[in-house]
Amino acid sequence: MKAQVVVQTGDRKLELTEHEVPRVTAGTALLAVEACGLCGSDVEQYKGAFSAKGIAAYPLIPGHEPVGRIVEIDADAARAWGVKAGDRVAVEPHLSCGLCRTCLEGSYHLCKEVRPTGLPAYGFLPLDFGHGLWGGYSTYMHLVPRTVLHKIPDEMPIELATQYQSLAAGVRWAVQVPKTALGDSVLILGPGQRGLGAVIACCEAGAGQIIVTGLRRDRHKLDLALALGAHHTIVADEEDTVERVLSLTGGRGVDVAVDVVPAATQSIVDAVGAVRIGGTVVIGGVKGGTSRVSLDSDRILFREITIKGVYSQGSPAYREALRMLVENRYDLARLHTHTFGLEEADTALRTLAGEIPGAEAVCVSLHPHQSPPRSQS
Ligand SMILES: [Zn+2]
Ligand SMILES: [Zn+2]
Repeated sequence: MKAQVVVQTGDRKLELTEHEVPRVTAGTALLAVEACGLCGSDVEQYKGAFSAKGIAAYPLIPGHEPVGRIVEIDADAARAWGVKAGDRVAVEPHLSCGLCRTCLEGSYHLCKEVRPTGLPAYGFLPLDFGHGLWGGYSTYMHLVPRTVLHKIPDEMPIELATQYQSLAAGVRWAVQVPKTALGDSVLILGPGQRGLGAVIACCEAGAGQIIVTGLRRDRHKLDLALALGAHHTIVADEEDTVERVLSLTGGRGVDVAVDVVPAATQSIVDAVGAVRIGGTVVIGGVKGGTSRVSLDSDRILFREITIKGVYSQGSPAYREALRMLVENRYDLARLHTHTFGLEEADTALRTLAGEIPGAEAVCVSLHPHQSPPRSQS
């Protein structure tokens, strides 16, 4: 049996081809990919940022946000995962060993044992690693032992289901890690999928004041942030972010500042400048290997500011995100802007990257089993 796959062979080079589907062996399963969400990491991978840093090597099948149906499953895997053939699941991308010190201390999403060099995650492993069928830009994926799955209801619209990772990032980065509590003020720097996920998570946590920054070209995303429940927006290339935050908080600064801006580093400087005495800065936006930030360390010391890095989401955040997607109290379908077939992967990535004029993308997904005309929903 062959899967239809998109293989990345170089920077900005994608090929639609076929790949042998491996047999289901002990502890494994076969997933029919219903859709795969795309995020900023997909765009960076497409452009070549990860291969340049040695995190991912070509050729590979991208796609680390897959949702699909189990079509075949080994009995051991069915017992371990609590799922059966026919179940609909969302897949956590990170692969872990379950036995190293990092895993045993609960940080399985940071385990390096499965693959010491590069990112040990679905969507980032090369074709010559194991069975090769690792990515969600494919009609089928082979799920290996210790994959973490989350069951999702049959009736959940796929446009909601594919938002599980961005919403989980918002849950962990803006609420669970900084311990955001009822009434807290939160500054979210960056209005992309993760920033909007952070807005929703902060609303759910009962934050008293939510402020979101973006650029002039992000107006549609800033408007979405306001519609979802943010109280104020700041246009960072027109206004002074720190000044605005201090004026909005009576000079005190925010309790929590969450940076989800990709590439640019000014947002980290602004976060440190805008947080209150004893406040917390969370850094979740990947800046790229050459970026350096110049910070006034005395400000951090004298104000006892906590700075915390976050990578990936983790099971508790995925569980909360999926609960919120099931309840759908925030009308999250409005975040999903574009649906593409597998053969349109290149266009999908350029749409999310903002390279298609007027597209105004937020959440974009690939649907490997159908070839729908490019659509805006
Ligand atoms: Zn992602
Ligand atoms: Zn481990």
